[in-house]
Amino acid sequence: MHFELLLDAVLGERQIFHIIECPVCGYEEIYYEHQVTKRLIGRACSNCNFVQKFN
Ligand SMILES: [Zn+2]
Repeated sequence: MHFELLLDAVLGERQIFHIIECPVCGYEEIYYEHQVTKRLIGRACSNCNFVQKFN
């Protein structure tokens, strides 16, 4: 599955909150917030194929 589709499925509507260096691979780990509420919704690294949704 394409990574952006995985993000759509897991996180849904989102915008980038900030980007840090991924602690695992050194690539970009992106934190996402909700477009309207600005609540932090999750983080992801496309290089690690990693997505986490915050509850
Ligand atoms: Zn990574």
